Amino acid sequence: MNLENSIQTPVFRLIGEEADRLGLECYVIGGWVRDLLLHRPSKDIDIVVVGSGISLAEAVAKRLGKGAHLAVFKTYGTAQVKKGETELEFVGARRESYRSESRNPIVETGTLEEDQNRRDFTINALALCLNKNRYGELLDPFGGIADLEDCTIRTPLDPDITFSDDPLRMMRGIRFASQLGFCLAPETFMAIKRNCERINIITKERIADELNKIMLSRRPSVGWKLLDSTGLLPLVFPELAELKGVETKDGRGHKDVFLHTLQVLDNVASKSDYLWLRWAALLHDIGKPKSKQWEPGAGWTFRNHNYLGARMIPRIFKKMKLPQNEKMDYVIKLVDLHMRPINLIEDTVTDSAVRRLLFEAGDDIDDLMLLCNADITSKNEDKVRRYHQNYELVKQKMVELEEKDRIRNFQPPVRGEEIMQLLSLEPCSLVGELKSAIKDAILDGVIPNEYEPAKAYLMQLAKERGLI
Ligand code: ATP
Ligand code: MG
Repeated sequence: MNLENSIQTPVFRLIGEEADRLGLECYVIGGWVRDLLLHRPSKDIDIVVVGSGISLAEAVAKRLGKGAHLAVFKTYGTAQVKKGETELEFVGARRESYRSESRNPIVETGTLEEDQNRRDFTINALALCLNKNRYGELLDPFGGIADLEDCTIRTPLDPDITFSDDPLRMMRGIRFASQLGFCLAPETFMAIKRNCERINIITKERIADELNKIMLSRRPSVGWKLLDSTGLLPLVFPELAELKGVETKDGRGHKDVFLHTLQVLDNVASKSDYLWLRWAALLHDIGKPKSKQWEPGAGWTFRNHNYLGARMIPRIFKKMKLPQNEKMDYVIKLVDLHMRPINLIEDTVTDSAVRRLLFEAGDDIDDLMLLCNADITSKNEDKVRRYHQNYELVKQKMVELEEKDRIRNFQPPVRGEEIMQLLSLEPCSLVGELKSAIKDAILDGVIPNEYEPAKAYLMQLAKERGLI
C-alpha cells in the first residue's frame, strides 16, 4: 500500500531529504500513522531511523531554522524537534529484550522489523517510509490495516510475552479499546486475564495516565468494563471493584452499584468533557458498600453514603497518584453534595434549602445538577421524566433566587473586621459566631443579602446579647 497522497505534510518531505542526504532510512511510525488512517487528530509524530535518530534530528532542526528547538537525550538515543505546533520525536530503530523482574528492557540497535516487533499492538506498528524513492510506502508486517478495519486490538507477537514483558501494555490495550471503540482480540483478552497480576510492577503514575485517557474517551464504561472482565480492576482500583454485585434479602435486592455507576459516568460523558466531573461521576457512590445496611421495614439503605464517599476520596487520590489539589476538592464537593438536589425535590422546596445548596456548591452548581440528572438511571421512564422535571423546577428556583440574592459567590456583607470595630471586640470566637449568624439569616431569608440590613441585624443581635 502507498499513502503518498495522504501525507502531504511539508515537514515529512524535508525529513526525507535530510535522511537521504545522510544515507539513512527513516519512517513515521506508531500512533501518528494509526490516527492518519482513522482520520483522528494526532499531535506527536514519532520518527524511526535505521541508524542514528539523533543525527537526523540535528539535521532536521538545522533545516527548519529559526524557531526550531532541538532537545537531545543521549542516554536514550532519542531527540525531539519542536517548531510551532509540530512536535517530532526521533529514535534509532531498536531491539528490546526483557528480564522478568523489571519493566526496563535491554536495548540494542536493530532493524526496522525488530523495532516493529517491540511495538505493543498491530495497529501501532505501522510504518510509513519518508525516503524519496519510497515516499509513502506502508510497512505493515502484522496485519495492522486489517485490524484497523475490523476495529481490533491485537498484539503483534505472542500476547503472553508482550504483556509479561511490559504489563503497562495491558492498560494501553484497554485504553485504546475505550478511546477508539475497538474490541480486544480474544487471544489478547485471554492473555491480559492470565497476566493481570503483573500490573503490580507498573508505577501508579503510568496507570493513572491510562485511567485518565479511559475517562476522557467517548464512553468510558467500555474501558472500566474491560478492566473488570480481565481481572485488572481489583488490582488498579479495588474500591471500585467493591461496588460490584447484588445482595438479596427476603426477596429484595438492591441495584448493582458498579453498573449503575458506569451508566452515570457515560451519561455525564455524553454531556461534558471535563475530566474531574467524570471522576466525580465515577466516585459518586463509592461510599455505598461501607454504608450498606439491611433495615427491617426499610429494606436496603445506604445512609450518608455521600458523606462517607467524600471522606474516602483523599486516600484514593493519594494512592492512585491523582492530583492532591483543587481538582480533588472539586470531586470531594460534588460527591458530598450529590444527594442534596434529590432531597430538595422530595421535600417541599423551600427557598432557604435552595439558597443553602447554592451557597455550598458555589460556581460548581451547574456541574452538580448535571451529575444529579445523570444519576437518574431508573428503567421506569415515567419516573425518570418526573425526576428530570422536578430538577428543572429546582433549577428555575435557583435562577430566581440567584438573581435576587446573589448567593453563588456569597461574601458576608458585613466582614469580621467591621464586626470587631462596631462592637469594640478583640479577635475571638464570638466574631465568627456573629458572622455566621448573619450568614444564616441571609440564607434563611430573614434578611436580604445587603449591607444595611445585615448591619442592622448585627446590631440587634449585639443588643440581645448585651454586647452594647
Ligand atoms: P497516544 O499518543 O494517543 O497516547 P500512541 O500510540 O501514539 O497513542 P505513544 O505513547 O505516543 O502512544 O507511543 C507511540 C508509539 O510507541 C505507539 O504507537 C507504539 O508503537 C509505541 N509504544 C508506546 N508505548 C509502548 C509500550 N509500552 N510498548 C510497546 N510499544 C509502545
Ligand atoms: Mg502518540
